[in-house]
Amino acid sequence: MILVTGGAGYIGSHTVINLINAGEKIVIFDSLENGHIEIVQALQKIGDVKFEKGDLRNIDDIDKVFSKYDIEAVVHFAAFALVGESVENPAKYYRNNTFGTLNLLDTMVKYNCKKIVFSSTCATYGNPQYVPVDEKHPQAPISPYGTSKLMVEMIMKDYDKAYGLKSIKLRYFNVAGCDKNCRVGEWHEPETHLIPNIVKSTFGEGKVFKIFGDDYNTPDGTCIRDYVNVEDLAEAHRLALEYLRKENKSNEFNLGTEQGDSVKTIFKACEKVLDKKIEVEITARRDGDAEALYANANKVKTTLGWKPLRTIEDSITTAYKWEEKLQTLL
Ligand code: UDP
Repeated sequence: MILVTGGAGYIGSHTVINLINAGEKIVIFDSLENGHIEIVQALQKIGDVKFEKGDLRNIDDIDKVFSKYDIEAVVHFAAFALVGESVENPAKYYRNNTFGTLNLLDTMVKYNCKKIVFSSTCATYGNPQYVPVDEKHPQAPISPYGTSKLMVEMIMKDYDKAYGLKSIKLRYFNVAGCDKNCRVGEWHEPETHLIPNIVKSTFGEGKVFKIFGDDYNTPDGTCIRDYVNVEDLAEAHRLALEYLRKENKSNEFNLGTEQGDSVKTIFKACEKVLDKKIEVEITARRDGDAEALYANANKVKTTLGWKPLRTIEDSITTAYKWEEKLQTLL
């Protein structure tokens, strides 16, 4: 059985669908602080998915799951992921993302479970010294969120040496889109991400979409990011699991498309795909935004055989369809 922590969240739920399709049996562990029970219910309609509510900060919660099920491997998403909030409330991030993961790893060691795929982030690199960013780029996070994830990466290296616990760290770039059948999708409160914010602004009472700064040193003045489709990203987790089973080795991979798109490019793509004129306001820069961040994803392509199959238009189309559905759920 595969334990998916944070399986009621955005990337976690898409990975659960991918793993169900690959014939895996899943148990989701989620506190539902940010995840949603409706997402768990949607997943349970698709396949064999057990659900255990619990919090990684409480080691007894996770111990109970390991004593109840025979867990072969863990795919670990459960984390807080708002950069701004992490600056204001670092304790929340270190307690949950770092200390919570330590509880998980210790429980894995206790129950002799030796494989984990970990949601890491390009935020562990901090302000890039060069782009595209490869895995050898120095890791110097500029937010407690990035640091909380980098600390886990470091702990995992030590746990491999000490206990033979093998880990794959997937350093995501920007993630977008949703399940093409809209069974699950991106559901954050508050929503801070670019594509859902553009999409939301087109619905009824939606707030006017704001571009955070157009005075960056980029061709059109707006920040550049690498938007990887969530279904493509989910597939990378399945491949990582396969790699752990076959190679029994720890490793780390950047997960991006290698294409840098500016905020204005994404905005125009949204207008085109949705066939709408969308209102926009240019405002001041958002604190902590790096100018340009995109991946060199050569390593994941050559080592895991991963390749992005979906386009940014696919991500925008599905994000919009999901938002239509979300409007009826709220
Ligand atoms: N962004 C924006 N308006 C929004 C949300 C995001 O202009 O309402 C910009 C943000 O400044 C950044 C890019 O879009 O340059 C991607 O931001 P997002 O929060 O989606 O991801 P991040 O790169 O911060 O993880």
